[in-house]
Amino acid sequence: MAKKATLILVLLAVGTLAVLWKFHSTEPKATPPPTPQEACLNNLRLIHSGKMQWGLEQHPLIYQSPTWADLRPYIGRGSNGAMPECPLHGVYTLGTVAEEPSCSIHGTVPRRR
Ligand SMILES: [Zn+2]
Repeated sequence: MAKKATLILVLLAVGTLAVLWKFHSTEPKATPPPTPQEACLNNLRLIHSGKMQWGLEQHPLIYQSPTWADLRPYIGRGSNGAMPECPLHGVYTLGTVAEEPSCSIHGTVPRRR
């Protein structure tokens, strides 16, 4: 009878160790690189943010559009920094103050509900 109890205890211990090992050995996975669409939408968010900052400082009329040169100081890449580009070579349209910037391939950033 004692042998049977010992065997059960050993099996329980091995099982517990197996479960612990399984959880211990799962390493955190690195986040996957963004898809071209995600990268493009992030660029559009950056451009939109630059437009908002430009608008706050320059007080444009609602139908006016900034130029890339206008936005360059607000995109956060310095005065000679490269402007964001669509990974699939879509063309960005800045639009007026009232419009969302858009990509010829990926469109605009979807609105959150
Ligand atoms: Zn795009």
